[in-house]
Amino acid sequence: YRYGTTSAQEPIKPPVTVEYDKLLINGQFVDAASGKTFPTLDPRSGEVIAHVAEGDTEDINRAVAAARKAFDEGPWPKMTAYERCRIMLRFADLVEKHNDEIAALETWDNGKVYEQSAHIEIPMLVRLFRYYAGWADKIHGLTIRADGPYNVQSLHEPIGVAGQIIPWNFPLVMFAWKVGPALACGNTIVLKTAEQTPLSALLVSKLFLEAGLPDGVLNVVSGFGPSAGAALCSHVDVDKLAFTGSTATGKIVLELAAKSNLKPVTLELGGKSPFIVCEDADVDKAVEVAHFALFFNQGQCCCAGSRTFVHEKVYDEFVAKAKERAMKRSVGDPFKTGMEQGPQIDAEQFNKILKYIKYGKECGATLETGGDRFGTKGYYIQPTVFSNVQDDMPIAKDEIFGPVQTVLKFKDNEEVIRRANNSPYGLAAGIFTQDLDTANTLTRALRVGTVWVNCFDTFDAAIPFGGYKMSGIGREKGEYSLKNYLQVKAVVTSLKNPAW
Ligand code: NAD
Repeated sequence: YRYGTTSAQEPIKPPVTVEYDKLLINGQFVDAASGKTFPTLDPRSGEVIAHVAEGDTEDINRAVAAARKAFDEGPWPKMTAYERCRIMLRFADLVEKHNDEIAALETWDNGKVYEQSAHIEIPMLVRLFRYYAGWADKIHGLTIRADGPYNVQSLHEPIGVAGQIIPWNFPLVMFAWKVGPALACGNTIVLKTAEQTPLSALLVSKLFLEAGLPDGVLNVVSGFGPSAGAALCSHVDVDKLAFTGSTATGKIVLELAAKSNLKPVTLELGGKSPFIVCEDADVDKAVEVAHFALFFNQGQCCCAGSRTFVHEKVYDEFVAKAKERAMKRSVGDPFKTGMEQGPQIDAEQFNKILKYIKYGKECGATLETGGDRFGTKGYYIQPTVFSNVQDDMPIAKDEIFGPVQTVLKFKDNEEVIRRANNSPYGLAAGIFTQDLDTANTLTRALRVGTVWVNCFDTFDAAIPFGGYKMSGIGREKGEYSLKNYLQVKAVVTSLKNPAW
């Protein structure tokens, strides 16, 4: 999982300087129109890191106007695709150069392990931008053979002003998934960051300006969902929305888009992904990958393998080893070298997870390990494993979004397919087996957007990601994401000489 070639030095520790705490509108860092700010907190302690400008409707209006002007008057959509590509590549180089300080800010604001910020997520952002920079000058339409004397082509044009709303669990990776393809296609953007993690997007956007991005092409508004977020969704000058977050909020986003101007929407929502360990699996490897699939990023992943189905023949062995592995997980200050788990994002998520742990105990699941907060300060939670979990328990049905592994028992493939698919979600699945036929059967039968076979959470820039059912609409990453940001124009020209 190490993507990059960044330094192996000791992490830069906070306080790092928070230089950018205002809204980025039309190339300038500005206060909110209301003058209001909100605090962003350090999840290790709940202490205030910085007071950030709080955008609302008026700021969204200003940002959309800037993006509109930058789209309609250019130069961004009209500039050569090669020039757009080069600005994106320069941005990637600058991020790489500032890798460690960006990582420190991300970990401070989010609580994720510094090594993960520095060696996985920021290198992932860099890779994503280089990937989409490569697409910029390879986007083109078709020539089409139609009946009759016509010359027919399709033009692939940028869609316009993209409104993008991102969550707090992977602030910079989500920035990349949204901004990369939109810019490669020649669109302009208003991005609303999550209120829990506004800082890193502002810092990297400053680097984008430094790389030569024209004013107004990328506008970043920090603020809350029901105010700034909703204003962006309802704005009639926004041509397209992309959202990542909870399924409940996704429904609101879709409704606001429909009620305003029917702008197309892509949604990347919640999940309750099955991780299936078959009877022939390499149990030790399955235990390790299932552990990673659930506990990575404090369990705060939309695609977390949060229903661990284990075949009855290997169930007892798996549970004993999964418990042992969870007990060994290192929890503590995410800036400390060797830590695997930091604090949860905030008090709300912390309390929600503890509530689900309580439900688990009350419903009769067996608590193998964990089950409480970790330490006395900040939002740390003990790595928790429940066995003997039944499908109808809340811990097996709902997205907990925390370090709580639920292990369920199954007898045969037909049964596990039925149970795995019995969920309103369909984001991802993991399968552990050494049998090709089992792997192929399960892969085809599962109603999910990604299947990982004998691996999990492999997130290459080129691999599409998205959900079936209530896990979302559309795909991000890879070539598929370009479609979200393009309009297709059919051009039909009558031919004077039909013979040709
Ligand atoms: P959320 O969906 O409310 O927030 C995600 C983003 O949407 C944030 O930027 C937020 O400000 C914005 N938002 C909220 N209300 C909005 C509205 N009415 N209009 C427009 N934008 C709005 O998620 P949350 O409250 O931070 O977390 C709640 C739960 O969501 C979590 O416990 C977890 O289960 C899930 N979640 C999923 C993902 C994911 O990647 N799928 C990410 C974060 C949270």
